[in-house]
Amino acid sequence: MFQFFSYYSFLIPFSFLCLCRPSFPARIFPESSSTVITVDTHNTTTTTWHGFTRFLDAGKGSQVSGMSELKEYFNRFGYLPIPDENNFTDIFDKQFESAVIAYQTNLGLPVTGKLDSDTISMMVSPRCGVSDTKTHGTTFQATKHFSYFYGKPRWGRQAPVILTYAFSQNNMIDYISLKDIKTVFKRAFSRWAQVIPVSFMEIEDYPSADIRIGFYYRDHGDGQPFDGVLGVLAHAFSPENGRFHLDASETWALDFETVKSRVAVDLESVATHEIGHILGLAHSSVKEAVMYPSLSPRSKKVDLKIDDVNGVQALYGSNPNFTFSSLLASENSFNKGSGLRNTRSSSKWNISFVVGVLLLFLCTR
Ligand SMILES: [Zn+2]
Ligand SMILES: [Zn+2]
Repeated sequence: MFQFFSYYSFLIPFSFLCLCRPSFPARIFPESSSTVITVDTHNTTTTTWHGFTRFLDAGKGSQVSGMSELKEYFNRFGYLPIPDENNFTDIFDKQFESAVIAYQTNLGLPVTGKLDSDTISMMVSPRCGVSDTKTHGTTFQATKHFSYFYGKPRWGRQAPVILTYAFSQNNMIDYISLKDIKTVFKRAFSRWAQVIPVSFMEIEDYPSADIRIGFYYRDHGDGQPFDGVLGVLAHAFSPENGRFHLDASETWALDFETVKSRVAVDLESVATHEIGHILGLAHSSVKEAVMYPSLSPRSKKVDLKIDDVNGVQALYGSNPNFTFSSLLASENSFNKGSGLRNTRSSSKWNISFVVGVLLLFLCTR
């Protein structure tokens, strides 16, 4: 999956630009066992952020018409404050260079301070709507790892922690059955429940649920409007808010064998990521981590990585049944197949691994 991510994060945004075909309205072909969706394949000039590619290779001192839009992007994700005069200029100034450097550092990119191809392709890639930098501790991370929201909020109730979740009746998508959506979310919640002493329970009563899930178009009343096809895919709020919103304009997919759209987005991957926010994790600078902010279309990243586990266990402690060996087994097998998979769990301790950890612990004391 790492390969999938890294290759496609480069190739997909640029291949979109090479395509300039007329768009067709979305057509849905319901089948008895699966849903085949062919969405406008596709007028790529309308996808969010595609226009940023014209800023390729811009560096300090340059002035390119429309660069203020790019600055608004950096402002939106926490890298650039709104200027005193209230409007961004089109000049690549020193402050903007610092923002680019911070972005490159946070996203694990080569730090050049320029809008090089790595940076531009990352910027046009779809991503989570949660800001990268409103995090606990220092403004930007000194080392590559997980982070928390400001104040390090978590669900503070007494153990055993049981969080309820519900789906909005009025804000769902109709081309994937509710049953399938519920299966995906159940699996996504279970991944987190396997590593921390927190469990999740679906309930019908939406208003009273701790976690409230729905699909929304554009402006949906929380001050963070969605932006149409790609761009921002979803956002969720830090503890103990519980709002979990997905962009209804995306082509959500359960698997990529039946959904052929180039802009299809894996629902389970995004669900797993946003649950991390619901629990209190902010974005990670580790590219392979579930909590990394960006996800390419037609890619899948559902298995928690060590970085995700370390981050969430520092908030809630470890599930007594969790073993790192099961996580490692999961990491080793994540490249096998791209369809829906059940999560793995193993109750066997890997003795050699435990001994190794103990030795390491003793040697460092
Ligand atoms: Zn996110
Ligand atoms: Zn929202």
